[in-house]
Amino acid sequence: MNPQDYESIYAGFESALSRYDCGQHCAPHNRGEPVCCSTEHAVPIVTVEEWKFLKSRTDLWHLYRSPSAAGRKIKAELPHDCRALECKGAALCERENRSLSCRTFPFFPYITKKYDFAGLAYYWNFEDRCWVISNLQVVEQIFVREFVSTFELLFRKIPGELETFRDYSASMRRVFSRKGRTIPLIGRDGGYFEVAPGTGEIRPAKVDEFGKHGVYK
Ligand code: SF4
Ligand code: SF4
Repeated sequence: MNPQDYESIYAGFESALSRYDCGQHCAPHNRGEPVCCSTEHAVPIVTVEEWKFLKSRTDLWHLYRSPSAAGRKIKAELPHDCRALECKGAALCERENRSLSCRTFPFFPYITKKYDFAGLAYYWNFEDRCWVISNLQVVEQIFVREFVSTFELLFRKIPGELETFRDYSASMRRVFSRKGRTIPLIGRDGGYFEVAPGTGEIRPAKVDEFGKHGVYK
């Protein structure tokens, strides 16, 4: 990957997740700031190349600095070719200069044991704070299509990314297995599914039967 590759990656992933301004739903529960735009909750992680690209076209971002132990731990655990960033905040957001982390949140690509990219699963640690996770029906098909094509490109270009998300998907199965819950999934070609965490079986599901969480119950 070259830093300039991010120009076309960003161009191919511009669609909004939803026609609703989802930040208006979570911000009232987070002192007026959208949860995923505040490093108190979510710290965007980018590759070194993406960081170079962002620096070349905006001053929106700086390297994440945190005096807290949790912040230092995030930085210490980063792979050597990644950087933790922080932006100037939601009030100064530049839509065209959002990082890939911003564009994909709260989802990651769900990869099966057999390396199939089955769809979009969510970062389960945010179940209690992210309104979208409790309202998966608001996710637009065009967003899903762009998410899938972007990650297919990244998997071709960045060796190891597929393995990373396969491992992460396995972690989600372990966590949900302990909780006795199935994993909600947005299918890569549309529709809703659930993953049985014990076997990994993927079966059709109804979106209105997915749980609601935290203050969104
Ligand atoms: S994606 Fe979730 S956390 Fe981010 S603004 Fe929307 S509802 Fe809030
Ligand atoms: S760049 Fe925009 S979307 Fe990304 S964290 Fe900052 S305010 Fe949120």
